[in-house]
Amino acid sequence: MIRILFTPAFAIMILISTSFTTSYDLTDQVNNESEVNDGPYIFIDSDSSGILKSIRNGEIVTDTVALKKTSFANEPSEFAGADKIAILSDIHGQIDVLQELLKANDIIDQKNNWSFDKGHFVIVGDVFDRGPKVTETLWFIFKLEEQAELAGGKVHYLMGNHEYMALHNDLRYIHEKYYKTSELLNTSYPDLFSVNTVLGRWLRSKSTIIKINDNLFVHGGLSNEFMSMGLSLDEANDRYRKSFEMTRDEIRASEDYNGLYSSSSPIWYRGYFAGKKGMTESDFQNILSFLDANQIIVGHTSYKKVKSGYDKRLYVVDSSIKIGKSGELLLIENGKYYRCKFDGKRKLLN
Ligand code: ZN
Repeated sequence: MIRILFTPAFAIMILISTSFTTSYDLTDQVNNESEVNDGPYIFIDSDSSGILKSIRNGEIVTDTVALKKTSFANEPSEFAGADKIAILSDIHGQIDVLQELLKANDIIDQKNNWSFDKGHFVIVGDVFDRGPKVTETLWFIFKLEEQAELAGGKVHYLMGNHEYMALHNDLRYIHEKYYKTSELLNTSYPDLFSVNTVLGRWLRSKSTIIKINDNLFVHGGLSNEFMSMGLSLDEANDRYRKSFEMTRDEIRASEDYNGLYSSSSPIWYRGYFAGKKGMTESDFQNILSFLDANQIIVGHTSYKKVKSGYDKRLYVVDSSIKIGKSGELLLIENGKYYRCKFDGKRKLLN
């Protein structure tokens, strides 16, 4: 549980924990579009304190905060016994669409708090880039993760190509507002998520490929080229975590790491959607067998709705939330796979 308090004690209290009285909520959204509003970003000073920086109506707000937790254990790669799993991807800073979709499907309540009981909620990458509310989305997921944990559920935020791009200083897709944030805070965009920040350490604890029950989850997909690297899920996730600290040149020059960033890598692959040029049915089945799984769920390749492929062994959940209008999620419950729409209606897919 993370509790972040301003010091001195009588000053405003910042919190994620529900056990405190809220006077400043990290997930609070400011809707004044004419001025830059962003943050907070919390830079860790010591094991127990940090400097909080926000931008409110174009002005920097700085405060010292007490931190109850400054490290995050690496997420495991495999989970068993999940009764229900909700999955979506490619949010790209569209928190309003995300929250409306989650409300319509009873994953969160009307106040944006977890209401999915012991369920697992998987975000299959790409919260970063394109849209204007990336920071708000990150803190919302951060809060939801803590609430899910308390309820016996779980949030899994997997890293996509856009997480790795932004954190490796490839800023081609960031919303223009984040250039202003960087300028005002006098720091590069990736340094807002460095290993010395709360969000940066939290992101570095995340996985890129996970398995829940007999389902594999990965942003782009698992290709033959990636499989030939011979990595276990743990090894792949650890290698991705280490790559956060490498430059793009270092990654390109390393045989061990280059395959994690190529067009056939788990975060970029589109071979499941390439028709005759793509992965064959038998190769797809071989990958499932090798990893002792029955389904693969991916994002990254955008459609209007949640779809299935490979004889209902593949599900793609990028339903174009990034456009900022609507979206869908996939629900797995009792062996059934449902396409859950923006209005809360469901359609059985298998
Ligand atoms: Zn992507």
